Amino acid sequence: REESEINELEQKKLEMANVNPDEIDSFAKFPLSKYTLLGLKHNGFTVPTKVQRQTLVYSLRGMDVVGAAKTGSGKTLAFIIPLLENLYVKKWSSVDGLGALIITPTRELAYQIFEVLKNVGKSHDFSAGLIIGGKDLKYEWNLISGCNILICTPGRLLHHMLENPDFSCEYVQMLVLDEADQCLSMGFAETMNCILEELPEDRQTMLFSATQTRDVKDLIRAGCKNPVFCSVHEFSK
Ligand code: ADP
Ligand code: MG
Repeated sequence: REESEINELEQKKLEMANVNPDEIDSFAKFPLSKYTLLGLKHNGFTVPTKVQRQTLVYSLRGMDVVGAAKTGSGKTLAFIIPLLENLYVKKWSSVDGLGALIITPTRELAYQIFEVLKNVGKSHDFSAGLIIGGKDLKYEWNLISGCNILICTPGRLLHHMLENPDFSCEYVQMLVLDEADQCLSMGFAETMNCILEELPEDRQTMLFSATQTRDVKDLIRAGCKNPVFCSVHEFSK
Protein backbone atom coordinates (compact mmCIF):
# COMPACT_ATOMS: atom_id res chain seq x y z
CA ARG A 1 0.00 0.00 0.00
CA GLU A 2 1.52 3.24 -1.09
CA GLU A 3 1.60 6.26 1.12
CA SER A 4 1.87 8.56 -1.89
CA GLU A 5 -1.24 7.09 -3.50
CA ILE A 6 -3.24 7.66 -0.31
CA ASN A 7 -1.99 11.24 0.04
CA GLU A 8 -2.91 11.94 -3.54
CA LEU A 9 -6.39 10.49 -3.03
CA GLU A 10 -6.89 12.63 0.07
CA GLN A 11 -5.88 15.74 -1.85
CA LYS A 12 -8.22 14.94 -4.74
CA LYS A 13 -11.08 14.28 -2.32
CA LEU A 14 -10.74 17.79 -0.94
CA GLU A 15 -10.86 19.18 -4.47
CA MET A 16 -14.12 17.34 -5.05
CA ALA A 17 -15.89 20.01 -3.01
CA ASN A 18 -15.81 22.18 -6.15
CA VAL A 19 -16.97 19.55 -8.61
CA ASN A 20 -20.40 19.41 -10.19
CA PRO A 21 -21.45 15.75 -9.76
CA ASP A 22 -23.31 15.71 -13.04
CA GLU A 23 -20.09 16.39 -14.92
CA ILE A 24 -18.53 13.20 -13.62
CA ASP A 25 -19.10 10.90 -16.56
CA SER A 26 -16.76 8.11 -15.54
CA PHE A 27 -15.69 6.38 -12.32
CA ALA A 28 -12.08 7.16 -13.27
CA LYS A 29 -12.80 10.84 -12.58
CA PHE A 30 -13.42 10.10 -8.91
CA PRO A 31 -10.46 9.91 -6.56
CA LEU A 32 -10.58 6.12 -6.25
CA SER A 33 -7.81 3.66 -5.50
CA LYS A 34 -6.54 1.53 -8.34
CA TYR A 35 -8.04 -1.51 -6.58
CA THR A 36 -11.57 -0.18 -6.66
CA LEU A 37 -11.14 1.11 -10.22
CA LEU A 38 -9.96 -2.32 -11.27
CA GLY A 39 -12.93 -3.99 -9.56
CA LEU A 40 -15.37 -1.65 -11.26
CA LYS A 41 -13.75 -2.12 -14.65
CA HIS A 42 -13.68 -5.92 -14.40
CA ASN A 43 -17.38 -5.91 -13.67
CA GLY A 44 -18.21 -3.62 -16.55
CA PHE A 45 -19.02 -0.52 -14.51
CA THR A 46 -17.62 2.57 -16.21
CA VAL A 47 -20.19 5.36 -15.97
CA PRO A 48 -21.64 6.19 -12.55
CA THR A 49 -25.43 6.39 -12.28
CA LYS A 50 -27.02 9.55 -11.00
CA VAL A 51 -27.41 8.44 -7.40
CA GLN A 52 -23.80 7.25 -7.44
CA ARG A 53 -22.47 10.59 -8.79
CA GLN A 54 -24.61 12.64 -6.46
CA THR A 55 -23.66 10.79 -3.28
CA LEU A 56 -20.03 9.81 -3.96
CA VAL A 57 -18.84 13.42 -4.02
CA TYR A 58 -19.87 13.60 -0.35
CA SER A 59 -19.52 10.05 0.93
CA LEU A 60 -15.95 9.77 -0.37
CA ARG A 61 -15.11 12.75 1.82
CA GLY A 62 -16.43 10.90 4.84
CA MET A 63 -19.69 12.81 5.11
CA ASP A 64 -22.98 11.24 6.15
CA VAL A 65 -25.43 10.86 3.30
CA VAL A 66 -29.11 10.05 2.96
CA GLY A 67 -29.74 8.88 -0.59
CA ALA A 68 -33.10 8.24 -2.20
CA ALA A 69 -33.50 6.70 -5.63
CA LYS A 70 -35.85 4.18 -7.09
CA THR A 71 -35.14 0.46 -7.25
CA GLY A 72 -32.61 -0.38 -9.93
CA SER A 73 -30.81 2.96 -9.83
CA GLY A 74 -27.54 1.58 -8.48
CA LYS A 75 -27.71 2.28 -4.76
CA THR A 76 -25.57 -0.76 -3.89
CA LEU A 77 -22.42 0.59 -5.55
CA ALA A 78 -23.22 4.02 -4.12
CA PHE A 79 -22.38 2.61 -0.69
CA ILE A 80 -19.94 -0.20 -1.58
CA ILE A 81 -17.50 2.22 -3.23
CA PRO A 82 -17.12 4.69 -0.33
CA LEU A 83 -17.01 1.80 2.09
CA LEU A 84 -14.03 0.20 0.34
CA GLU A 85 -12.34 3.52 -0.32
CA ASN A 86 -12.72 5.00 3.14
CA LEU A 87 -11.39 1.86 4.80
CA TYR A 88 -8.53 1.92 2.31
CA VAL A 89 -7.48 5.50 3.02
CA LYS A 90 -7.76 4.81 6.75
CA LYS A 91 -5.15 2.12 6.03
CA TRP A 92 -7.50 -0.50 7.35
CA SER A 93 -6.03 -3.92 6.81
CA SER A 94 -7.25 -7.47 7.03
CA VAL A 95 -5.99 -7.81 10.61
CA ASP A 96 -7.82 -4.71 11.90
CA GLY A 97 -11.12 -6.47 12.44
CA LEU A 98 -14.59 -5.16 11.81
CA GLY A 99 -14.52 -1.74 10.14
CA ALA A 100 -17.84 -1.50 8.36
CA LEU A 101 -21.38 -2.80 8.79
CA ILE A 102 -24.11 -2.96 6.18
CA ILE A 103 -27.58 -3.60 7.52
CA THR A 104 -30.35 -4.64 5.18
CA PRO A 105 -33.86 -5.91 5.95
CA THR A 106 -33.78 -9.29 4.17
CA ARG A 107 -31.43 -12.20 3.59
CA GLU A 108 -31.97 -12.00 -0.16
CA LEU A 109 -30.78 -8.39 -0.24
CA ALA A 110 -27.82 -9.32 1.96
CA TYR A 111 -26.76 -12.01 -0.52
CA GLN A 112 -27.05 -9.57 -3.44
CA ILE A 113 -24.93 -6.96 -1.67
CA PHE A 114 -22.38 -9.62 -0.77
CA GLU A 115 -22.00 -10.59 -4.42
CA VAL A 116 -21.41 -6.98 -5.48
CA LEU A 117 -18.95 -6.42 -2.66
CA LYS A 118 -17.09 -9.62 -3.47
CA ASN A 119 -16.83 -8.79 -7.16
CA VAL A 120 -16.04 -5.09 -6.99
CA GLY A 121 -13.84 -5.40 -3.90
CA LYS A 122 -11.89 -8.35 -5.23
CA SER A 123 -8.52 -6.57 -5.51
CA HIS A 124 -8.74 -5.12 -2.03
CA ASP A 125 -7.23 -6.85 0.93
CA PHE A 126 -10.45 -6.94 3.01
CA SER A 127 -12.54 -9.87 4.14
CA ALA A 128 -16.31 -9.83 4.15
CA GLY A 129 -19.02 -12.00 5.66
CA LEU A 130 -22.74 -12.38 6.11
CA ILE A 131 -24.70 -12.43 9.36
CA ILE A 132 -28.10 -13.50 8.22
CA GLY A 133 -28.91 -16.69 10.08
CA GLY A 134 -30.38 -19.64 8.28
CA LYS A 135 -29.31 -23.20 7.63
CA ASP A 136 -25.58 -22.95 8.19
CA LEU A 137 -25.78 -21.27 11.55
CA LYS A 138 -23.07 -23.39 13.11
CA TYR A 139 -20.55 -22.00 10.62
CA GLU A 140 -21.60 -18.41 11.06
CA TRP A 141 -19.77 -17.87 14.33
CA ASN A 142 -16.45 -19.00 12.86
CA LEU A 143 -16.87 -17.27 9.54
CA ILE A 144 -17.55 -13.81 10.86
CA SER A 145 -14.64 -13.63 13.25
CA GLY A 146 -12.03 -11.28 11.87
CA CYS A 147 -14.18 -10.04 8.99
CA ASN A 148 -13.56 -6.43 7.98
CA ILE A 149 -16.96 -5.86 6.43
CA LEU A 150 -20.18 -7.55 7.50
CA ILE A 151 -23.55 -7.57 5.79
CA CYS A 152 -26.31 -8.27 8.27
CA THR A 153 -29.99 -8.53 8.86
CA PRO A 154 -30.99 -6.68 12.04
CA GLY A 155 -32.17 -9.57 14.21
CA ARG A 156 -29.19 -11.75 13.50
CA LEU A 157 -26.72 -8.90 14.05
CA LEU A 158 -28.22 -8.11 17.43
CA HIS A 159 -28.00 -11.77 18.32
CA HIS A 160 -24.24 -11.69 17.82
CA MET A 161 -23.89 -8.40 19.66
CA LEU A 162 -25.61 -9.94 22.66
CA GLU A 163 -24.50 -13.57 22.57
CA ASN A 164 -21.15 -13.82 20.83
CA PRO A 165 -18.27 -12.93 23.15
CA ASP A 166 -15.84 -12.71 20.21
CA PHE A 167 -17.96 -10.22 18.35
CA SER A 168 -17.10 -6.56 18.71
CA CYS A 169 -18.28 -3.44 16.93
CA GLU A 170 -15.98 -1.23 18.94
CA TYR A 171 -13.97 -0.02 15.95
CA VAL A 172 -16.69 0.23 13.34
CA GLN A 173 -15.92 3.22 11.12
CA MET A 174 -18.90 3.08 8.80
CA LEU A 175 -22.52 2.05 8.96
CA VAL A 176 -24.79 1.60 5.96
CA LEU A 177 -28.53 1.10 6.20
CA ASP A 178 -29.75 -0.27 2.89
CA GLU A 179 -33.50 0.09 2.41
CA ALA A 180 -33.15 2.41 5.38
CA ASP A 181 -36.86 3.12 5.63
CA GLN A 182 -37.55 -0.55 6.17
CA CYS A 183 -34.67 -0.96 8.63
CA LEU A 184 -35.97 1.95 10.69
CA SER A 185 -39.63 0.97 10.45
CA MET A 186 -41.80 -0.24 13.28
CA GLY A 187 -41.04 -3.89 12.74
CA PHE A 188 -37.33 -3.46 13.43
CA ALA A 189 -37.61 -0.53 15.85
CA GLU A 190 -36.53 -2.24 19.05
CA THR A 191 -33.83 -4.30 17.37
CA MET A 192 -32.36 -1.32 15.52
CA ASN A 193 -32.38 0.83 18.64
CA CYS A 194 -30.37 -1.80 20.51
CA ILE A 195 -27.93 -2.18 17.59
CA LEU A 196 -27.41 1.55 17.16
CA GLU A 197 -26.70 1.93 20.85
CA GLU A 198 -23.82 -0.53 20.57
CA LEU A 199 -22.07 1.26 17.70
CA PRO A 200 -19.38 3.90 18.12
CA GLU A 201 -20.80 7.39 17.62
CA ASP A 202 -17.73 8.58 15.80
CA ARG A 203 -18.49 6.90 12.49
CA GLN A 204 -19.77 7.64 9.03
CA THR A 205 -23.43 6.75 8.46
CA MET A 206 -25.05 6.25 5.05
CA LEU A 207 -28.76 5.68 4.53
CA PHE A 208 -30.15 4.50 1.21
CA SER A 209 -33.69 3.72 0.22
CA ALA A 210 -36.24 4.14 -2.52
CA THR A 211 -37.96 6.94 -0.64
CA GLN A 212 -36.36 9.74 1.27
CA THR A 213 -35.86 9.24 4.99
CA ARG A 214 -36.70 12.72 6.17
CA ASP A 215 -38.18 12.06 9.56
CA VAL A 216 -35.75 13.84 11.85
CA LYS A 217 -36.46 11.33 14.59
CA ASP A 218 -35.34 8.49 12.31
CA LEU A 219 -32.20 10.34 11.24
CA ILE A 220 -31.27 11.03 14.83
CA ARG A 221 -31.96 7.43 15.76
CA ALA A 222 -29.72 6.25 12.94
CA GLY A 223 -26.97 8.53 14.21
CA CYS A 224 -26.72 10.73 11.10
CA LYS A 225 -24.60 13.82 11.60
CA ASN A 226 -25.52 16.77 9.34
CA PRO A 227 -26.29 14.40 6.49
CA VAL A 228 -26.34 15.49 2.88
CA PHE A 229 -29.68 14.63 1.29
CA CYS A 230 -29.56 13.31 -2.26
CA SER A 231 -32.79 12.59 -4.01
CA VAL A 232 -32.93 11.26 -7.54
CA HIS A 233 -36.31 11.50 -9.17
CA GLU A 234 -38.11 8.98 -11.30
CA PHE A 235 -37.60 10.70 -14.62
CA SER A 236 -33.89 11.41 -14.41
CA LYS A 237 -31.34 8.79 -15.33
P1 ADP B 1 -30.88 -0.43 -6.29
O1 ADP B 1 -30.23 -0.88 -5.02
O2 ADP B 1 -30.95 1.06 -6.41
O3 ADP B 1 -32.23 -1.05 -6.51
P2 ADP B 1 -28.79 -1.93 -7.58
O4 ADP B 1 -27.63 -1.42 -6.82
O5 ADP B 1 -29.30 -3.27 -7.21
O6 ADP B 1 -29.99 -0.88 -7.53
O7 ADP B 1 -28.41 -1.88 -9.13
C1 ADP B 1 -29.34 -2.23 -10.13
C2 ADP B 1 -28.62 -2.76 -11.36
O8 ADP B 1 -27.86 -1.72 -11.97
C3 ADP B 1 -27.67 -3.88 -11.06
O9 ADP B 1 -27.82 -4.88 -12.02
C4 ADP B 1 -26.29 -3.24 -11.20
O10 ADP B 1 -25.33 -4.15 -11.61
C5 ADP B 1 -26.53 -2.16 -12.22
N1 ADP B 1 -25.63 -1.01 -12.06
C6 ADP B 1 -25.36 -0.34 -10.92
N2 ADP B 1 -24.50 0.67 -11.14
C7 ADP B 1 -24.21 0.65 -12.45
C8 ADP B 1 -23.34 1.44 -13.29
N3 ADP B 1 -22.66 2.47 -12.80
N4 ADP B 1 -23.27 1.12 -14.60
C9 ADP B 1 -23.99 0.09 -15.09
N5 ADP B 1 -24.80 -0.70 -14.36
C10 ADP B 1 -24.93 -0.43 -13.05
MG1 MG C 1 -30.84 -1.94 -3.36
